[in-house]
Amino acid sequence: MNRLASKVAVVTGASLGIGRACAERLAQQGAAVALFDVLDEAGSELADRLTTEGHLAAYWHVDVSDEIQVRDALQSVAARFGALHVLVNNAGISGVAKPTHEVTEQEWDRVQAVNVKGVFFCTKHAIPLLRRAGGGSIVNLSSIAGLVGTAGVAPYHASKGAVRLMTKNDAVSYAADRIRVNSVHPGYIWTPMVEQHLRTTSVDFESARREAAALHPLGCMGEPDDVAWAVVYLASDEARFVTGIELVVDGGYVAR
Ligand code: NAP
Repeated sequence: MNRLASKVAVVTGASLGIGRACAERLAQQGAAVALFDVLDEAGSELADRLTTEGHLAAYWHVDVSDEIQVRDALQSVAARFGALHVLVNNAGISGVAKPTHEVTEQEWDRVQAVNVKGVFFCTKHAIPLLRRAGGGSIVNLSSIAGLVGTAGVAPYHASKGAVRLMTKNDAVSYAADRIRVNSVHPGYIWTPMVEQHLRTTSVDFESARREAAALHPLGCMGEPDDVAWAVVYLASDEARFVTGIELVVDGGYVAR
Protein backbone atom coordinates (compact mmCIF):
# COMPACT_ATOMS: atom_id res chain seq x y z
CA MET A 1 0.00 0.00 0.00
CA ASN A 2 1.32 3.40 -0.96
CA ARG A 3 -1.34 5.86 0.09
CA LEU A 4 1.37 8.36 1.11
CA ALA A 5 4.04 7.65 -1.46
CA SER A 6 6.65 10.43 -1.80
CA LYS A 7 5.23 12.46 1.09
CA VAL A 8 7.29 13.66 4.04
CA ALA A 9 5.49 13.61 7.40
CA VAL A 10 6.31 14.87 10.89
CA VAL A 11 4.62 13.20 13.86
CA THR A 12 5.01 14.84 17.27
CA GLY A 13 4.86 12.68 20.38
CA ALA A 14 5.87 9.75 18.17
CA SER A 15 7.68 7.61 20.76
CA LEU A 16 4.59 6.12 22.42
CA GLY A 17 0.89 5.50 22.06
CA ILE A 18 -1.12 7.10 19.27
CA GLY A 19 1.85 8.99 17.81
CA ARG A 20 3.86 5.79 17.59
CA ALA A 21 1.05 4.03 15.71
CA CYS A 22 0.70 7.04 13.38
CA ALA A 23 4.43 7.01 12.60
CA GLU A 24 4.32 3.28 11.85
CA ARG A 25 1.24 3.47 9.60
CA LEU A 26 2.41 6.59 7.73
CA ALA A 27 5.77 4.90 7.05
CA GLN A 28 4.09 1.68 5.90
CA GLN A 29 1.98 3.77 3.52
CA GLY A 30 5.10 5.16 1.87
CA ALA A 31 5.82 8.42 3.71
CA ALA A 32 9.24 9.46 4.95
CA VAL A 33 8.56 9.99 8.64
CA ALA A 34 10.24 12.37 11.09
CA LEU A 35 9.55 11.40 14.69
CA PHE A 36 9.55 14.23 17.28
CA ASP A 37 9.43 13.44 21.00
CA VAL A 38 11.17 13.98 24.32
CA LEU A 39 11.50 10.22 25.00
CA ASP A 40 14.71 9.73 23.06
CA GLU A 41 15.34 6.02 23.60
CA ALA A 42 11.89 4.84 22.49
CA GLY A 43 11.81 7.31 19.59
CA SER A 44 15.26 6.39 18.29
CA GLU A 45 14.50 2.67 18.57
CA LEU A 46 11.31 3.10 16.55
CA ALA A 47 13.10 5.15 13.87
CA ASP A 48 15.83 2.49 13.67
CA ARG A 49 13.28 -0.31 13.37
CA LEU A 50 11.34 1.48 10.62
CA THR A 51 14.61 2.12 8.76
CA THR A 52 15.59 -1.55 9.09
CA GLU A 53 12.20 -2.49 7.61
CA GLY A 54 13.05 -0.39 4.54
CA HIS A 55 11.21 2.85 5.37
CA LEU A 56 12.62 6.36 5.51
CA ALA A 57 12.51 7.46 9.15
CA ALA A 58 14.55 9.51 11.63
CA TYR A 59 14.15 10.76 15.19
CA TRP A 60 14.55 14.32 16.51
CA HIS A 61 14.50 15.34 20.18
CA VAL A 62 11.85 18.07 20.20
CA ASP A 63 9.91 19.49 23.11
CA VAL A 64 6.95 21.00 21.26
CA SER A 65 6.55 23.69 23.92
CA ASP A 66 9.97 25.11 22.92
CA GLU A 67 9.63 27.28 19.81
CA ILE A 68 13.33 27.26 18.90
CA GLN A 69 13.54 23.46 19.08
CA VAL A 70 10.41 23.18 16.91
CA ARG A 71 11.66 25.69 14.31
CA ASP A 72 15.12 24.14 14.04
CA ALA A 73 13.83 20.55 13.86
CA LEU A 74 11.30 21.36 11.12
CA GLN A 75 14.02 23.08 9.07
CA SER A 76 16.23 20.06 9.61
CA VAL A 77 13.50 17.65 8.45
CA ALA A 78 12.97 19.64 5.24
CA ALA A 79 16.72 19.71 4.61
CA ARG A 80 17.09 15.97 5.21
CA PHE A 81 14.00 14.68 3.38
CA GLY A 82 13.71 17.50 0.82
CA ALA A 83 10.27 18.87 1.75
CA LEU A 84 7.38 18.72 4.23
CA HIS A 85 3.85 17.64 3.24
CA VAL A 86 2.19 16.34 6.44
CA LEU A 87 2.26 17.51 10.07
CA VAL A 88 0.59 15.40 12.75
CA ASN A 89 0.27 17.50 15.92
CA ASN A 90 -0.11 14.60 18.34
CA ALA A 91 2.14 15.37 21.35
CA GLY A 92 0.02 16.03 24.39
CA ILE A 93 -0.28 15.52 28.13
CA SER A 94 -3.33 14.89 30.26
CA GLY A 95 -2.14 17.11 33.13
CA VAL A 96 -3.59 17.05 36.62
CA ALA A 97 -6.92 15.43 37.46
CA LYS A 98 -8.49 17.59 40.17
CA PRO A 99 -11.36 20.03 40.60
CA THR A 100 -10.88 23.40 38.90
CA HIS A 101 -10.66 25.31 42.21
CA GLU A 102 -7.62 23.22 43.24
CA VAL A 103 -5.64 23.60 39.99
CA THR A 104 -2.54 25.79 40.31
CA GLU A 105 -1.49 28.34 37.72
CA GLN A 106 1.63 26.29 37.00
CA GLU A 107 -0.43 23.10 36.42
CA TRP A 108 -2.77 25.00 34.11
CA ASP A 109 0.07 26.62 32.16
CA ARG A 110 1.99 23.36 31.59
CA VAL A 111 -0.98 21.70 29.87
CA GLN A 112 -1.59 24.72 27.66
CA ALA A 113 2.15 24.98 26.88
CA VAL A 114 2.29 21.45 25.45
CA ASN A 115 -1.22 20.89 24.11
CA VAL A 116 -1.99 24.36 22.73
CA LYS A 117 1.25 26.28 22.30
CA GLY A 118 2.90 23.12 20.97
CA VAL A 119 0.31 22.89 18.18
CA PHE A 120 0.72 26.61 17.52
CA PHE A 121 4.54 26.46 17.29
CA CYS A 122 4.56 23.39 15.05
CA THR A 123 1.88 24.83 12.76
CA LYS A 124 3.56 28.24 12.64
CA HIS A 125 6.89 26.84 11.52
CA ALA A 126 5.44 24.16 9.24
CA ILE A 127 3.29 26.55 7.18
CA PRO A 128 6.17 28.10 5.16
CA LEU A 129 7.44 24.58 4.37
CA LEU A 130 3.98 23.30 3.39
CA ARG A 131 3.50 26.37 1.19
CA ARG A 132 6.85 25.69 -0.45
CA ALA A 133 5.66 22.12 -1.18
CA GLY A 134 2.54 23.49 -2.90
CA GLY A 135 0.17 22.38 -0.12
CA GLY A 136 -0.20 19.69 2.48
CA SER A 137 -2.13 18.34 5.43
CA ILE A 138 -2.08 19.20 9.12
CA VAL A 139 -3.81 16.76 11.48
CA ASN A 140 -4.38 17.99 15.03
CA LEU A 141 -5.09 15.55 17.85
CA SER A 142 -7.95 16.98 19.87
CA SER A 143 -10.16 14.57 21.84
CA ILE A 144 -13.72 13.82 22.83
CA ALA A 145 -12.65 16.18 25.62
CA GLY A 146 -12.66 18.92 22.98
CA LEU A 147 -16.32 18.19 22.23
CA VAL A 148 -18.06 17.20 25.47
CA GLY A 149 -17.42 17.63 29.18
CA THR A 150 -16.38 15.27 31.95
CA ALA A 151 -15.24 16.34 35.41
CA GLY A 152 -11.93 17.10 37.06
CA VAL A 153 -9.73 17.77 34.04
CA ALA A 154 -10.37 21.44 33.23
CA PRO A 155 -6.91 22.27 31.84
CA TYR A 156 -7.11 19.31 29.45
CA HIS A 157 -10.65 20.22 28.28
CA ALA A 158 -9.58 23.83 27.73
CA SER A 159 -6.59 22.72 25.68
CA LYS A 160 -8.50 20.27 23.48
CA GLY A 161 -11.32 22.76 22.90
CA ALA A 162 -8.69 25.28 21.82
CA VAL A 163 -7.15 22.79 19.38
CA ARG A 164 -10.58 22.10 17.87
CA LEU A 165 -11.08 25.77 16.95
CA MET A 166 -7.45 26.51 16.07
CA THR A 167 -7.99 23.78 13.49
CA LYS A 168 -10.95 25.56 11.94
CA ASN A 169 -9.15 28.92 11.93
CA ASP A 170 -6.16 27.42 10.15
CA ALA A 171 -8.34 25.41 7.74
CA VAL A 172 -9.94 28.62 6.52
CA SER A 173 -6.73 30.68 6.68
CA TYR A 174 -4.62 28.33 4.57
CA ALA A 175 -7.19 26.79 2.21
CA ALA A 176 -5.98 29.06 -0.58
CA ASP A 177 -2.51 27.55 -0.11
CA ARG A 178 -4.01 24.06 -0.52
CA ILE A 179 -3.08 23.28 3.07
CA ARG A 180 -5.83 21.22 4.70
CA VAL A 181 -6.21 21.28 8.49
CA ASN A 182 -8.42 18.81 10.36
CA SER A 183 -8.86 17.60 13.92
CA VAL A 184 -9.21 14.04 15.19
CA HIS A 185 -11.21 13.35 18.35
CA PRO A 186 -10.44 9.97 19.94
CA GLY A 187 -12.40 8.41 22.74
CA TYR A 188 -10.42 6.45 25.35
CA ILE A 189 -7.52 4.80 23.53
CA TRP A 190 -5.42 2.30 25.46
CA THR A 191 -2.05 4.08 25.66
CA PRO A 192 0.48 4.89 28.42
CA MET A 193 -1.36 8.22 28.93
CA VAL A 194 -4.69 6.54 29.69
CA GLU A 195 -3.11 3.83 31.82
CA GLN A 196 -1.32 6.44 33.93
CA HIS A 197 -4.49 8.55 34.19
CA LEU A 198 -6.56 5.59 35.42
CA ARG A 199 -3.82 4.47 37.85
CA THR A 200 -3.57 7.92 39.43
CA THR A 201 -7.32 8.64 39.60
CA SER A 202 -8.74 5.25 40.70
CA VAL A 203 -8.69 3.14 43.83
CA ASP A 204 -9.34 -0.09 41.91
CA PHE A 205 -7.46 0.08 38.59
CA GLU A 206 -9.14 -2.95 36.93
CA SER A 207 -12.64 -1.67 37.78
CA ALA A 208 -11.72 1.78 36.49
CA ARG A 209 -10.50 0.22 33.26
CA ARG A 210 -13.76 -1.70 32.79
CA GLU A 211 -15.83 1.39 33.62
CA ALA A 212 -13.88 3.50 31.09
CA ALA A 213 -14.43 0.85 28.42
CA ALA A 214 -18.17 0.75 29.19
CA LEU A 215 -18.50 4.48 28.43
CA HIS A 216 -18.21 3.58 24.73
CA PRO A 217 -21.32 2.05 23.10
CA LEU A 218 -19.04 -0.36 21.20
CA GLY A 219 -18.09 -1.70 24.63
CA CYS A 220 -14.32 -1.28 24.64
CA MET A 221 -11.54 1.28 24.52
CA GLY A 222 -9.88 1.92 21.20
CA GLU A 223 -6.37 0.93 20.13
CA PRO A 224 -3.75 3.41 18.83
CA ASP A 225 -4.18 1.95 15.34
CA ASP A 226 -7.86 2.98 15.31
CA VAL A 227 -6.67 6.59 15.39
CA ALA A 228 -3.66 6.03 13.13
CA TRP A 229 -5.90 4.91 10.24
CA ALA A 230 -7.96 8.11 10.58
CA VAL A 231 -4.73 10.10 10.46
CA VAL A 232 -3.52 8.20 7.37
CA TYR A 233 -6.78 9.10 5.61
CA LEU A 234 -6.61 12.81 6.50
CA ALA A 235 -2.91 12.97 5.59
CA SER A 236 -3.46 11.36 2.19
CA ASP A 237 -4.79 12.78 -1.07
CA GLU A 238 -7.91 10.63 -0.54
CA ALA A 239 -8.99 13.51 1.74
CA ARG A 240 -8.12 16.26 -0.76
CA PHE A 241 -11.60 17.89 -0.40
CA VAL A 242 -11.69 17.55 3.40
CA THR A 243 -10.67 20.48 5.59
CA GLY A 244 -11.82 21.94 8.90
CA ILE A 245 -13.60 18.75 10.00
CA GLU A 246 -13.77 16.98 13.35
CA LEU A 247 -13.16 13.28 12.72
CA VAL A 248 -14.48 11.48 15.79
CA VAL A 249 -12.95 8.05 16.54
CA ASP A 250 -14.63 7.14 19.79
CA GLY A 251 -16.63 3.89 19.67
CA GLY A 252 -19.82 5.95 19.82
CA TYR A 253 -18.93 7.90 23.02
CA VAL A 254 -20.34 11.24 21.85
CA ALA A 255 -23.27 9.70 19.96
CA ARG A 256 -25.30 9.23 23.17
P1 NAP B 1 1.05 9.14 25.41
O1 NAP B 1 0.85 7.67 25.45
O2 NAP B 1 1.40 9.85 26.68
O3 NAP B 1 2.15 9.51 24.30
C1 NAP B 1 2.42 10.86 24.04
C2 NAP B 1 3.85 11.05 23.65
O4 NAP B 1 4.10 12.48 23.54
C3 NAP B 1 4.82 10.55 24.73
O5 NAP B 1 5.95 9.97 24.16
C4 NAP B 1 5.14 11.84 25.46
O6 NAP B 1 6.31 11.80 26.23
C5 NAP B 1 5.24 12.80 24.31
N1 NAP B 1 5.25 14.18 24.75
C6 NAP B 1 4.69 14.70 25.87
N2 NAP B 1 4.98 15.99 25.98
C7 NAP B 1 5.75 16.30 24.91
C8 NAP B 1 6.37 17.48 24.47
N3 NAP B 1 6.30 18.63 25.19
N4 NAP B 1 7.06 17.47 23.32
C9 NAP B 1 7.17 16.32 22.61
N5 NAP B 1 6.63 15.17 22.98
C10 NAP B 1 5.91 15.16 24.12
O7 NAP B 1 -0.26 9.86 24.83
P2 NAP B 1 -1.40 9.28 23.85
O8 NAP B 1 -2.46 8.69 24.69
O9 NAP B 1 -0.80 8.51 22.76
O10 NAP B 1 -2.00 10.66 23.30
C11 NAP B 1 -1.53 11.26 22.11
C12 NAP B 1 -2.43 12.44 21.78
O11 NAP B 1 -3.77 11.98 21.61
C13 NAP B 1 -2.47 13.51 22.87
O12 NAP B 1 -2.56 14.79 22.27
C14 NAP B 1 -3.75 13.19 23.61
O13 NAP B 1 -4.28 14.30 24.27
C15 NAP B 1 -4.63 12.71 22.47
N6 NAP B 1 -5.72 11.86 22.91
C16 NAP B 1 -5.46 10.67 23.55
C17 NAP B 1 -6.53 9.89 23.96
C18 NAP B 1 -6.33 8.58 24.65
O14 NAP B 1 -7.33 8.03 25.14
N7 NAP B 1 -5.13 8.03 24.72
C19 NAP B 1 -7.85 10.31 23.74
C20 NAP B 1 -8.06 11.52 23.10
C21 NAP B 1 -6.99 12.29 22.68
P3 NAP B 1 6.14 11.61 27.86
O15 NAP B 1 5.66 10.21 28.07
O16 NAP B 1 7.50 11.91 28.40
O17 NAP B 1 5.11 12.63 28.29
